[in-house]
Amino acid sequence: MPKVAPFDSRAELMRVSSVDKVFPGNVQALKDMSLAVREGDFISLLGPSGCGKSTALRLMADLSRPTSGSIEWAQPRGKGDLGVVFQEPTLMPWTTVAQNVFLPFRLEGKSYAEVKDDILDVLKLVGLDKFQNAYPRELSGGMKMRVAIARAMVTQPKLILMDEPFAALDEITRFKLNNDLLAMQARIGCTVIFVTHSVFESVFLSDRIVVMAARPGRVIEEVRVDAPYPRTEDFRTSAEYAAHCRAASRALEKAMEAA
Ligand code: ADP
Ligand code: MG
Repeated sequence: MPKVAPFDSRAELMRVSSVDKVFPGNVQALKDMSLAVREGDFISLLGPSGCGKSTALRLMADLSRPTSGSIEWAQPRGKGDLGVVFQEPTLMPWTTVAQNVFLPFRLEGKSYAEVKDDILDVLKLVGLDKFQNAYPRELSGGMKMRVAIARAMVTQPKLILMDEPFAALDEITRFKLNNDLLAMQARIGCTVIFVTHSVFESVFLSDRIVVMAARPGRVIEEVRVDAPYPRTEDFRTSAEYAAHCRAASRALEKAMEAA
């Protein structure tokens, strides 16, 4: 069961062309970044702190504008085509899990009754359907992050941007969420761009790893991980996984030296 069509036949979703981002004080956060994002890609942005990963993600989320260059979608972006997950789950503490997941629809002006089934479906997908009436304070860190992911996925977006979503979680929870994230992506069929500074996480999840260096933030190299999906715990302990991790580590070392 292939997750997506063979790489080269995938349609383009979004294109980042020669993007620079300069902050006041002449901080060049990003220099000449280009990236063709295709439907079904799982792309990791991998690099040391300060290499512009979050800046790149915020530009792709349209939360910030490039100083020069452009970011374009192949088709006009519709409501609900984009989901974003940050390192903090940023849930509304005063209301329930289901109401938190409802938020993107509420912002579109939809009623709860209209989308109730979608909310329950996505809560099942993240394994929290029994917690729909719970409040965030009753949930563990991993469960809160699942709610944030459900909220990002509930509109069945074409693209999900994730900025170090699992960095604050313990390793066991992180591994479990890595497995589940791939299963969810396969179900929804979305593209994911995932920021991490973990070689192991990027190799497990991605088919493309964009390795970045700092000062100025820039792309150094793209590492392809052409291991088939679905990827399971067997992949995590395979020689193939170890070999890909070595290749990604080498690219990351090169990026650190370049900085
Ligand atoms: P990363 O996410 O890879 O750690 P960031 O994208 O957060 O890196 O930051 C890249 C560079 O841009 C850093 O030098 C950071 O200090 C700087 N930077 C990020 N955001 C701002 C901002 N709003 N104002 C000024 N400098 C910023
Ligand atoms: Mg960051």
